[in-house]
Amino acid sequence: MNRILVTGGAGFVGSHLCERLLNEGNEVVCMDNYFTGKKQKIVHLIDNPYFELIRHDVTMPYFIEVDQIYNLACPASPVHYQYNPIKTIKTSVMGAINMLGLAKRIRAKILQASTSEVYGDPVIHPQTEDYWGHVNPIGIRSCYDEGKRCAESLFVNYNAQNNVRIKIIRIFNTYGPKMEPDDGRVVSNFIVQALQNQDITIFGDGNQTRSFQYVSDLIEGMIRMMATGDDFTGPVNIGNPGEFTMLELAQNIIELTGSKSKLVFLPLPKDDPTQRQPDISLAREKLDGWEPKVSLREGLMKTIEYFDQLLAE
Ligand code: NAD
Ligand code: UDP
Repeated sequence: MNRILVTGGAGFVGSHLCERLLNEGNEVVCMDNYFTGKKQKIVHLIDNPYFELIRHDVTMPYFIEVDQIYNLACPASPVHYQYNPIKTIKTSVMGAINMLGLAKRIRAKILQASTSEVYGDPVIHPQTEDYWGHVNPIGIRSCYDEGKRCAESLFVNYNAQNNVRIKIIRIFNTYGPKMEPDDGRVVSNFIVQALQNQDITIFGDGNQTRSFQYVSDLIEGMIRMMATGDDFTGPVNIGNPGEFTMLELAQNIIELTGSKSKLVFLPLPKDDPTQRQPDISLAREKLDGWEPKVSLREGLMKTIEYFDQLLAE
């Protein structure tokens, strides 16, 4: 049994991770400031004596004894991370400094939830981990992209300079139950719109691509990454290589929900990446043959069922 700290544990991914770690017999401490997270996502865990909840902002130092840290605290939806961009940078950078400082002091192993956004609007396709990316350092996405890039730099330097045991994963677009209806990311937006027969909002011409990963595949990848030997630090891409345009995503969701929604075309936000697809060769090799198991249609059906119930409440 390990004692494990999950920052951002009341968020979409964090709440799934807390649940999985508890099911595997660990003690879990969930830390969150509830910016985009909600207690409802973890309320069913509160009676578990091996679960603890701390309201805390990662931009402030915190001391606790744990064996492992999963650092997830950071808003992930463009709408939320652009709401207060300076705070987003502080969360990524000061959060990383505080959690790495803690890991150093208590000799904990620490995993960083980095992102495919470190590749920006990529010109190499699919993206391999050795690609340095194509990021606008002063654009509207830079608070997130550069914050996460700086966090990666902090991680590798704490490893090189202080021997902190680090793991970096670059997460590609992930979706599933426990997303918020007003999260603002594309899968939740389209499903909520389709279930309510409202217009489906396609930004731009809808030919931009993303590769969507179901949340259980991500969680499996995270756990396997944490379990690798100290010599493997990453970064490693964790995503589903199935690549779809936003038009294809919308068509799939309309079909699966039987919706009467129509497509409407809205302006494309600035610096919106035109394509994104992970090369997962490294993950396959280093994470014991890990690869995504859930197809887009299967994952969408589960997510639609979740939102259908949520909207009926
Ligand atoms: P989310 O917004 O649902 O979760 C983020 C959590 O962090 C929330 O509970 C929020 O309240 C908390 N948080 C934000 N700022 C904080 C702060 N200063 N102190 C403490 N807690 C804070 O997003 P998510 O999709 O669950 O993403 C989790 C992590 O995974 C993020 O770091 C994100 O960058 C990364 N990631 C996610 C995806 C994805 O597609 N879901 C893709 C790439 C990377
Ligand atoms: N998008 C869209 N309609 C929406 C929300 C998003 O067409 O209602 C597009 C967005 O412009 C982007 C893609 O869907 O091209 C993925 O957006 P999301 O915010 O989910 O993630 P990210 O851009 O960070 O990958």
